[in-house]
Amino acid sequence: MYRDGARKSIWQNEIKRLSTENDLTEWFDTAIVGGGITGVSTALKLQESGQKCIIIEAANIGFGTTGGTTAHLNDFFDTTFAQVIKDFGLENAKLYAESGKDAIQLIENNIRRYGISCDFVRKSAYLFALDENQEKQLKDIVTGAAEVGHEMLYVNEISFPIPFREAVLIPAQGHFHPIKYIKALCEAFIQLGGAIEEKCICEGYKEHDDYIVLTTSKGEIKAKNVVYATHIPPGINLLHFTNAPYRSYAMAFSLKDNDYPRELGYDLCEPYHYYRVQEFEGENLLIAGGEDHKTGHSDDTGECFSRLENYVRKHFDVETTYFSWSSQYYEPIDGLPYIGKLPGTKDRIYVATGFRGNGMIFGTLSSQILHDLIITGESKYEHLFSPSRIKPIAGFTDFIKENASVAFDYIKDKIFVERIDSLSEIKPGEAKVFRYESETYALYKELNGTFHLLRSTCPHASCEVRWNSAELSWDCPCHGSRFNVNGKMLTGPSTKPLDKIFPFQKK
Ligand SMILES: Cc1cc2nc3c(=O)[nH]c(=O)nc-3n(C[C@H](O)[C@H](O)[C@H](O)COP(=O)(O)OP(=O)(O)OC[C@H]3O[C@@H](n4cnc5c(N)ncnc54)[C@H](O)[C@@H]3O)c2cc1C
Repeated sequence: MYRDGARKSIWQNEIKRLSTENDLTEWFDTAIVGGGITGVSTALKLQESGQKCIIIEAANIGFGTTGGTTAHLNDFFDTTFAQVIKDFGLENAKLYAESGKDAIQLIENNIRRYGISCDFVRKSAYLFALDENQEKQLKDIVTGAAEVGHEMLYVNEISFPIPFREAVLIPAQGHFHPIKYIKALCEAFIQLGGAIEEKCICEGYKEHDDYIVLTTSKGEIKAKNVVYATHIPPGINLLHFTNAPYRSYAMAFSLKDNDYPRELGYDLCEPYHYYRVQEFEGENLLIAGGEDHKTGHSDDTGECFSRLENYVRKHFDVETTYFSWSSQYYEPIDGLPYIGKLPGTKDRIYVATGFRGNGMIFGTLSSQILHDLIITGESKYEHLFSPSRIKPIAGFTDFIKENASVAFDYIKDKIFVERIDSLSEIKPGEAKVFRYESETYALYKELNGTFHLLRSTCPHASCEVRWNSAELSWDCPCHGSRFNVNGKMLTGPSTKPLDKIFPFQKK
């Protein structure tokens, strides 16, 4: 299975091709664009209800962030209950708490119904404070959780070799193998008559009164409804201004003496570190994650791995580093995901995005919400997670700040591109964005001396891409589109490649 980066994640051995033989001129009830956990779960749910569905995937099933996740199943979220009570009120915060429990239940139901073997385990989690400031945050988190009826218990010990000041135990969390899980969902979907079209990029849509025509790299596809399960929708939409792309790092280590923590673990650093265990080829490995930053905002993404590794080695008795990979998620402006009708469209196009680091949960929850909206026209979550919601006044400053930062990137990128006077300035393995005669270019030199020259302007909204040395990709800081060294699109919202000038070999 391929992923949208040069590094291999711990999950990648599981899938090859899952495409079915399809007649794309047929009519579909719902076309689901995107083959990650959101698209696959939604497609299966709709197919189970008797719909005829197709999953359209630009690359292969699991290619996006689902192939680069860490797959904790936690129903306390990056946006705390306390924050949601403050911004959206207690009743909405209670509904938000219910959504996590509903999502884990949906996963368990699928596992039971289809007999899925995906290393799913229920276990407790520890949330721990490392300093005085984190202690205050923890207190706030626990108070908010109590108000919405979510159990968190203060404890004196944790199963992590990390000095802490205070900690809580949170029962009934879990983790699983995300690719084994979605592979089994795809097989169930195909068994029920569902269609999967991989290597098919959805480029846009035309709305008609009672159907949608999708324009794709394999021609037009007609469906009564469309779900954009692409992590961020393609095209230009309001949601590109209410979601910011972030990069996050994960590594898997073997530990000496088989001394693995029994539970899930999370500190409250900014950004936080988090831990779980996964069996790989009969051995346990510790997966640690963290070092998040806004996409395109790190000069050396390789350094992020070094910092994460050093931090883990400081606390755990590491034997070997087996995997290191990074992936992208989206931060919504007001902290809650956007699940429902795509803003600015009529009634038949749906979207699910803005999951922060909780997309196993919200991607799964999206399958229920979007199913209910399409089949019955309503969902208990439709107002809370509405993509068209107006942010409560309390968080308005953050909204402006986040948008201003994206807008600033846009302008700044137009000004600050490097000059290079000759190609010999570029060392093997190095990359640069530079200006030449009023055009800007992205140049990468492979270790064997081959140059790859692209135009550096992102086709989505004309920002300038930045080099991601860890994943060998060009990443757009504005809305998160990503491209490989040949300009091929890896991650939307762009649906087009970067303009390729040439690859050439220089002696
Ligand atoms: C490092 C990291 C760790 C994480 N850990 C956790 C965790 O422990 N627990 C948790 O709950 N969440 C976690 N998350 C978040 C979670 O992994 C994501 O929110 C989730 O995987 C998103 O799934 P998705 O299906 O919506 O998107 P994706 O998995 O990104 O799938 C979208 C798919 O759409 C396809 N696509 C895009 N554009 C087009 C197009 N135009 N045409 C056709 N196809 C297209 C892509 O190729 C891709 O396969 C983590 C995220 C990161 C980055």
